[in-house]
Amino acid sequence: MSGLDDILTRIELARPAGSDPVRLLAVSKGQPVERIRVLAGLGQRHFGENYVQEGAAKIAALAGHGLVWHLTGPLQSNKCAEVARHFDWIETLDRAKLVGLLAAARPADHPPLQVLVQVKLDDEASKSGARAADVPELCRLIAAEARLCLRGLMTIPRPDPDPAGRRRRFAELRALFETLRADFPTLDTLSMGMSDDFELAIAEGATEVRIGTALFGPRPSPTIPSSDPPGAST
Ligand SMILES: *Cc1c(COP(=O)(O)O)cnc(C)c1O
Repeated sequence: MSGLDDILTRIELARPAGSDPVRLLAVSKGQPVERIRVLAGLGQRHFGENYVQEGAAKIAALAGHGLVWHLTGPLQSNKCAEVARHFDWIETLDRAKLVGLLAAARPADHPPLQVLVQVKLDDEASKSGARAADVPELCRLIAAEARLCLRGLMTIPRPDPDPAGRRRRFAELRALFETLRADFPTLDTLSMGMSDDFELAIAEGATEVRIGTALFGPRPSPTIPSSDPPGAST
């Protein structure tokens, strides 16, 4: 009945013997609140949203379900305050300017905001993601903020039809992660792998996979960043 069992089984089968459990982040962007509610009823706790307003509306609609919300979309500085108020995790912190803005805006009665640094592995045109060389300094800035908790790294590799190429990038991020762990003991999360390649990512050490279409099916509607999806506020 649910694609959830399927995905959880595939995650389990992909996991190298003796490795830590892998968390499923259900990427629910573009999906109606009802679909999220069904998955929550089946025990799924972590959900990812790409747009701040759409996410905030769903977070409000599903308050009290014990869900954990991750922002997986690009972060603009003028949205930091809203993100810090609503979300539990941010997976796309990629520049120093955002660190202080998020820390200052995190409400005092919330636990620290859990932070992943988004890393750009290919030195190409991609706008989002910190270059690997800049990641240690960014980690230092985050670790110095009491209202933020540095948890790990995230990447979205460029589309590559060659599985060996993707696998190499996942291995690269894993190597960076292992190096940083020596200096930053709170690092425990390596977020990589999506619907098309999560098994490869797990083989290379992912501790979190971000899955949308393989779990929900095709996204029903293009998501409009600046407005709430229909029905989300009920
Ligand atoms: C949409 C999205 C996903 C999920 O992608 P699918 O291919 O639908 O699994 C994962 N991570 C990020 C950052 C996304 O924007």
